[in-house]
Amino acid sequence: MEKWKKILCNAERDPVKLAERFNLDPEALKQVNDMFPCRIPDTFLKKIKFPGDPLFRQCIPDPEELTSRKELMDDPLGEIRFKKCEAIVQKYPDRCLFLVSGECAMYCRFCTRKRKFRQSFVITDKDIDRATAYIREHSELRDVLISGGDPFLLDDDKIEYILRSVRSAPHIKIIRIGTRTPCVLPERITAKLVRILKKFHPLYINIHFNHPDELDEPVCRSLKRLADAGIVLGSQTVLLKGVNDSPETMKQLMWKLLENRVKPYYIFQCDMIYGTKHFRTPLSQGIKIMESLRGWCSGMANPHFVIDLPGGGGKVPITPDYLLNSQGNKKIFRNYCGEEYLYTDLADFDL
Ligand SMILES: *Cc1c(COP(=O)(O)O)cnc(C)c1O
Ligand code: SF4
Repeated sequence: MEKWKKILCNAERDPVKLAERFNLDPEALKQVNDMFPCRIPDTFLKKIKFPGDPLFRQCIPDPEELTSRKELMDDPLGEIRFKKCEAIVQKYPDRCLFLVSGECAMYCRFCTRKRKFRQSFVITDKDIDRATAYIREHSELRDVLISGGDPFLLDDDKIEYILRSVRSAPHIKIIRIGTRTPCVLPERITAKLVRILKKFHPLYINIHFNHPDELDEPVCRSLKRLADAGIVLGSQTVLLKGVNDSPETMKQLMWKLLENRVKPYYIFQCDMIYGTKHFRTPLSQGIKIMESLRGWCSGMANPHFVIDLPGGGGKVPITPDYLLNSQGNKKIFRNYCGEEYLYTDLADFDL
């Protein structure tokens, strides 16, 4: 058996053992686990420094998950409405999601697809073929985003079959894969997998990272493998209370990603999902974080901060306001350190 499969088989799924390990109430954890199961590879578990630290909060069941407000929904992104066939969600004119796996190497406690933990699915060849037929019929599509769950939990030959199927549509210019395995199961990024991926350029991989402590030696090595294969790497981060909701943590994370050839792409406001109340931050905190990045560290380290609008509205960027005042063509801006500058917008006026 391949090493990554062994690690996955041995991943912790027993809430009672977790309770023992961290000195928590086993009954309480069991109750949470019945509703939202856990799965944590030992390699990730070992990186936890103390109960309640940023890595702990992401993966250990928390009784807080069972207290939810009615605003928090089961399908916050309205994906059911945009479902085109079993595995395709299309919300935008030129790109679509292709959901190929219901499984992840680690189950994040704040997951948008939490409802799916209970109905873990493996995609059939028939569903792949049906999805591919949709992609081939829709010549307006240029970009297919293969996601899940985690696509890299599938076997190599299944991944190759999916990539080959998508590539068979001539109008598909780029393929993107969304995954968290380089972060939570870096052993999955084998030489063989990379050899397969390389055949399907231009290929982009967006990796889910939430905290600088996640980037240890094996994780950085897996990123190097992917980058050396010419794959363009981006990151996606979820803004989470008690994990990364401070400017300093976020700055360190963005820098560490860049150092490892991962271009920070998105920071997401935590979706409105059941059982995530204790992770939620006010929008103002995200804006503050963005202000602390812009100008204060490399522009390359600046991702977009977005909300994926409830009800299926799609992603909208949230940015700090740098335009303080506007009268006619006179605009007053503040820069990153708060100094004010006058800009005269001449293009629209007689000179
Ligand atoms: C996020 C998302 C995409 C990709 O959006 P980008 O802004 O291009 O990264 C595509 N389709 C759906 C349904 C999405 O949620
Ligand atoms: S890796 Fe993504 S899809 Fe998988 S459990 Fe975590 S947040 Fe959910």
